[in-house]
Amino acid sequence: MTAPEQIHNGKLYIETVGCQMNMLDSELVVAALRQQGYSLTSDVKEADTILFNTCSVRDHAEHKIYSQLGRLKFSKRARPNQVIGVMGCMAQKDQELIFNRAPHVDLVVGTGQLREIPRLVDEARSDRGRRIAVSLDRKEGSRDEVASSFESYDPARDPEMRPTPFQAFVRIMIGCDKFCTYCVVPMTRGPEQSRPPREIAHEVKLLAQQGVKEVTLLGQTVNSYKHTQDGKLFRLSDLLELIHDTAGILRIKFVTNYPRDMTDDLLQAVRDLPKVAQYLHVPAQSGCDEMLKRMKRGYTVDQYREMFSRIRQTLPTCAVSSDFIVGMCGESEASYQLSLDLIRECRFKNSFIFKYSPRPGTKAHDLWEDDVPEDVKRHRNNEMLDLQNQISEEDNADLIGSTFEVLVEGISKSAKKAQAADDSFVPQHSPEDAVSGPTQLVGRTRCDRIVVFDGNPRLAGSLVEVAVQGCTATTLLGEIVTHERQSVGMSLPIMS
Ligand code: SF4
Repeated sequence: MTAPEQIHNGKLYIETVGCQMNMLDSELVVAALRQQGYSLTSDVKEADTILFNTCSVRDHAEHKIYSQLGRLKFSKRARPNQVIGVMGCMAQKDQELIFNRAPHVDLVVGTGQLREIPRLVDEARSDRGRRIAVSLDRKEGSRDEVASSFESYDPARDPEMRPTPFQAFVRIMIGCDKFCTYCVVPMTRGPEQSRPPREIAHEVKLLAQQGVKEVTLLGQTVNSYKHTQDGKLFRLSDLLELIHDTAGILRIKFVTNYPRDMTDDLLQAVRDLPKVAQYLHVPAQSGCDEMLKRMKRGYTVDQYREMFSRIRQTLPTCAVSSDFIVGMCGESEASYQLSLDLIRECRFKNSFIFKYSPRPGTKAHDLWEDDVPEDVKRHRNNEMLDLQNQISEEDNADLIGSTFEVLVEGISKSAKKAQAADDSFVPQHSPEDAVSGPTQLVGRTRCDRIVVFDGNPRLAGSLVEVAVQGCTATTLLGEIVTHERQSVGMSLPIMS
């Protein structure tokens, strides 16, 4: 259904938690509402429309949203016209419960109904009635019925809504059919569905025409991508080949990979297509077979090792990162130590480490007691992080003296902070507006390592060569080199 053509001059406040998929959803919803005449505000008090784009992966993320909603309990007294909406994973999971816990909420819109938001906001404002739009529960119909109740939301893109003008996410699939026992995603995002390659290629072309240089293809299990078009089966490797030669695109990334679907054709595509980043995020989650079985991850530690060694054989310099869950029910000290062993063995570029959080509606929540005490979870989390940081710093130190092709993202965080603290600084909105002198910039290598170096902000969106001269666990510190290998930077940059 298309949104009505009403034009507003209202103010929109949106808060987003969770993954890159949520960031993309927010970008698209904001773009749709801006086309209706809304303008964004960062001050919730002056907003006519308040949206929370939510995450259900951890209990903490949900608590945060409920307490934010609680703070808005009396805000409609000051702005009777205000519409408050909850969208995304928590909306799909909690549905009517949100109205029970926060009766002042007007809209509950699941991940599969985002297209409806402009219309629902209008309707809720005009008759002050509540609106709920959610997809079928996974048990409420056949797989096809449930799948068709989750609609992928991929409207025309609004260049002004992207965090930088030359980087964009592109959704290539929605949902997940893996049903890991701790995870709510198969419920909140529905069955796995891949978008047609033709649509994706068209979107990448449009983005390139709008100035995008780097696209990140998104999917919950991105390497499970499969779509048959004109009688030909497209896997992720075929899709990468299809979009690779898009004029203007310099880099292509994709996240997040599922270990069992890391096929040789994909590794060969990463090796052979120069624009594809030499970076793979492949979550292991645990280094203990017993825990992997309990998580229903669908592989053993040896099978993960075999996949990892195939990556190393085909892509010797490719950076690999991982996710780990610590303190899942039943995780003994010995099981946890096996996860540390896997980190030592694989030497990941970085790992995202999560404390287990039982999620209602998941098998783990229903079957097993959350029996690892909070202080043990916290200790394991911190210790694992320390180990990973030590490895990252050692491996980054080995790169000192090397030169990398870096895609410049813009001014580094620390330079932005320093500029903001300087009263004389006038905020810059685009590289073209930026001052012409050197400042600290941030970019990424083809293997997704963060690099800071001094340079002209106008370099944002271009590829430069940077010689690495120092490092921390998370960042390489370098200098731009010219063709004559002369330094054009200033002093050794500080950490971003
Ligand atoms: S693969 Fe497992 S952890 Fe990842 S989204 Fe699917 S169910 Fe969740």
